Amino acid sequence: MSAALIDGTAIAAQFRAELAVRVERLKERGVVPGLHVVIVGEDPASQVYVRNKALASQKIGMHSQVHALPGTTSEAGLVDYVKRLNEDPAVHGILVQLPLPRGLDSRAVIEAIAPDKDVDGFHYMNVGALVVGEPAFYPCTPWGVMKMLEHEGVPLSGAHAVVVGRSTIVGKPMALMLINASATVTVCHSKTRDLASVTRQADILVVAAGKPALVGASMVKPGAVVIDVGIHRMPDGKLAGDVDFAAVREVASRITPVPGGVGPMTIAMLLGNTVKSAERRAGFGASMETRIT
Ligand code: NDP
Repeated sequence: MSAALIDGTAIAAQFRAELAVRVERLKERGVVPGLHVVIVGEDPASQVYVRNKALASQKIGMHSQVHALPGTTSEAGLVDYVKRLNEDPAVHGILVQLPLPRGLDSRAVIEAIAPDKDVDGFHYMNVGALVVGEPAFYPCTPWGVMKMLEHEGVPLSGAHAVVVGRSTIVGKPMALMLINASATVTVCHSKTRDLASVTRQADILVVAAGKPALVGASMVKPGAVVIDVGIHRMPDGKLAGDVDFAAVREVASRITPVPGGVGPMTIAMLLGNTVKSAERRAGFGASMETRIT
């Protein structure tokens, strides 16, 4: 039997609708949540991502501003720019679009962002808070995966979750979030021996390797929940993930498609983090979530 689809487009739309209500509530108090995106240089893919983030913010009533800086901007200049945004009370979320042009140290720039405006969740303070399971801004892609699993009612406590990929923005924070939700977590990477023997043990399999069709049907336990984070533009122009969707769909119980799976959740979580930031500023109390139960 074919796996049920986990519809990220629909889940993200529902989440955005809830956010729009929270934005309205803030506006009644005279606060307009503001997401400020800094982009350096002319990378066309980054320009598309930045535009999409700004449009998505505006659609739920938030303010969004793109700060396009020339590719010749120095690291010190960029750090100063970010620090000025830190000081602006109308700025609730700051995101520096990565990758930065060669010669600019992204870590130095991320560390310049005030942790309470770091809506990407990449600042060491937020990373550390995730490690100890405390409230923070969590990285948007893995946090979006957690929201999907929560929406689907997938039991996490005691489940064996296997994460393929150990990047700083997806794999590692994903593993930490799943540990914080009491899953038993195995992390795989390019040096893992016999990947299939590990992935076959997963009740929940999250694939973020950046390799098209890396995971086939024989690597998935029957009935597993499969989350495909990968996204690739194929030679025929279509988008595909890290999972052989057609084959794995026949084995899994639930699966995310690409497109329409994790992708829409990522931007929704970014908006969510910015709204949270504005709510904290406005004194709306504890709106930070720490875990999914
Ligand atoms: P990275 O390239 O930073 O990390 C890839 C990870 O996968 C690495 O840890 C690497 O191992 C591991 N890996 C690579 N090949 C294999 C293999 N054959 N077997 C096992 N592990 C392997 O990628 P990201 O984490 O940034 O992104 C992963 C994918 O997710 C990409 O396709 C990206 O486009 C997509 N993505 C999608 C988002 C969305 O919103 N939908 C957001 C962010 C990313 P090692 O560490 O040993 O090199």
